[in-house]
Amino acid sequence: MNYHIIPVTAFAQNCSVIWCESTREAALVDPGGDADLIKETLEQRQLKPSQILLTHGHLDHVGAAVELAAFWQIPIVGPQKRDAFWLEALPTQSRMFGLDECAPFTPDRWLEEGESVQVGLTTLEVLHCPGHSPGHVVFFDWPGRLLISGDVIFNGGVGRTDFPQGDHQQLIDAIRTKLLPLGDDVTFLPGHGPISTLGHERISNPFLQ
Ligand SMILES: [Zn+2]
Repeated sequence: MNYHIIPVTAFAQNCSVIWCESTREAALVDPGGDADLIKETLEQRQLKPSQILLTHGHLDHVGAAVELAAFWQIPIVGPQKRDAFWLEALPTQSRMFGLDECAPFTPDRWLEEGESVQVGLTTLEVLHCPGHSPGHVVFFDWPGRLLISGDVIFNGGVGRTDFPQGDHQQLIDAIRTKLLPLGDDVTFLPGHGPISTLGHERISNPFLQ
């Protein structure tokens, strides 16, 4: 699985474009904003977007999802349904973050632990990792050793848990029991900041010591 990160919005949220080399089919993970920039990138790389994947319902991760889904006529997939309240509260989130008004929406498909999504010839496994938000999911390409981790784990940090229905212990438990066992060699693309590996974080991340 190939990837390219596009930082979007005032929050420098990492919108990840991932694609299958053989089919050029792509998925957009967490298009939080800057729809035109995302469209240009896909055009330049001659990729065919087939779906939008959402890790969770925070505005900086979903802000451009509806516009891009309509533009390419593709479905919005994820997060897990316990994040429905975040998607319903998008107008409030827009005011809270000082960003353009974003209308509430329901994805075409909610995701559950153990389900998978297909991007070209690559299968991504879905893991439910609550704590930063209750319905947060991550996507894992087993053979490619690539994880898209949203706001669960960062290079040197973990997601905030001071939002409604956040839970720090639940977040740390999800990282310890679901993510670290995937293997030290796994590279992850976080929702903010530089990429890292699970091995690097297992040893040096201050929240996991
Ligand atoms: Zn978030």
